[in-house]
Amino acid sequence: MYDVIVVGAGPTGATAAKILSDNDMKVLLVERMKLPRYKSCSGVLIKKSMDLVMEYFGKDVPHSAMCTPTDNHGMIFTNDKGKEYAFNQEGLNVWRSSFDNWLTENAVNAGAELRDMTSVIACDNKDDNIEVKLFSDRLYSEKARYVIDCGGVTSVIKRKELNIAPEFITTFQTFNQGKIELDPHYFYAYLQPELSEYDAWFNVKDDMLVLGVAVKDTNKISDYYDSFIHYMKDKHGLVIDKTVKAEKWLMPHIRSGCKIDYGKGRLLFAGEAAGFLNPMGEGISAGMESGNAAAHAITEHFDEPVCVLDDYQQRTKMLKTYMERQWNFVAGLADTFSEMKLSL
Ligand SMILES: Cc1cc2nc3c(=O)[nH]c(=O)nc-3n(C[C@H](O)[C@H](O)[C@H](O)COP(=O)(O)OP(=O)(O)OC[C@H]3O[C@@H](n4cnc5c(N)ncnc54)[C@H](O)[C@@H]3O)c2cc1C
Repeated sequence: MYDVIVVGAGPTGATAAKILSDNDMKVLLVERMKLPRYKSCSGVLIKKSMDLVMEYFGKDVPHSAMCTPTDNHGMIFTNDKGKEYAFNQEGLNVWRSSFDNWLTENAVNAGAELRDMTSVIACDNKDDNIEVKLFSDRLYSEKARYVIDCGGVTSVIKRKELNIAPEFITTFQTFNQGKIELDPHYFYAYLQPELSEYDAWFNVKDDMLVLGVAVKDTNKISDYYDSFIHYMKDKHGLVIDKTVKAEKWLMPHIRSGCKIDYGKGRLLFAGEAAGFLNPMGEGISAGMESGNAAAHAITEHFDEPVCVLDDYQQRTKMLKTYMERQWNFVAGLADTFSEMKLSL
């Protein structure tokens, strides 16, 4: 019997497993991919994420997790009318495979047991424990007093347990060799409706020019991507010599009210699985903060399961308010996000 089974070794799961282990809980961290696993991401760690790493892990992000340019200087938005806004802030540029793996190693060093290449396929919430069905080379079960599902945007447990069909935004980005007349230290976001159905972006990772668009309708990816490339050629002198890689991924579609699914019985959701995601796809800080909150709620009320979900909700109240305000701010910048306006 484990005290807690944590599903998913992303920033949310690694943080939850680390904090629980620091509090002497018997933790099993389960990851379906072989580690280090790939995650499509711009890999920008904003200042808040850097501070959370120091707070929860007690150290700075190692150089081995970074790509060049290692320092991110902030974000530059272009709104739907073509007006530019610069937000200068200290940040880091990381490869998610190395960063997430480093967080996971820290959770293991704190005492968590790790099983990668193992999928959680179902949970059975009982009165005094929760039974988890796992699949690696065979099907088997483990029991725990609690489960924290940090399985990200496509969480199968959430779909099964809450019987909901999540809405997704599809991201498409390419890694290119070439040149452009933009400062590689910034993350650039473009909110013009002719360039994407959500946002389009540019940043640099290890000398590769990363260009992406996000859509609601996947049939429109190539049209929007082509428009964005033309725009970047005209506006910023983009020249692509060679496209090295192209990838599609998903993000939760955050709707008005920023609904969060906290959990059910002995099962808690955290990170993207719960619905935590800030505008421009910034989700690492919200993942870490919610993973930490879920871990503390369990530690604090281990023998009072009825209190755990309430406490978790309380502990993430400010995080949710922060998320709502961030979305409200972006709604003021572009009509695409007008449904996210808060009625203050
Ligand atoms: C294109 C793109 C760019 C982004 N750029 C940024 C950025 O620059 N900065 C930022 O802060 N955020 C960014 N994000 C968002 C960020 O990647 C996510 O919000 C963040 O990864 C969420 O962390 P998580 O731990 O909740 O989920 P994930 O990182 O998705 O981790 C979930 C883990 O759970 C595992 N898993 C899933 N189901 C199971 C199962 N059933 N059994 C076992 N394991 C399972 C998965 O394999 C995965 O490893 C970006 C997202 C996208 C798509």
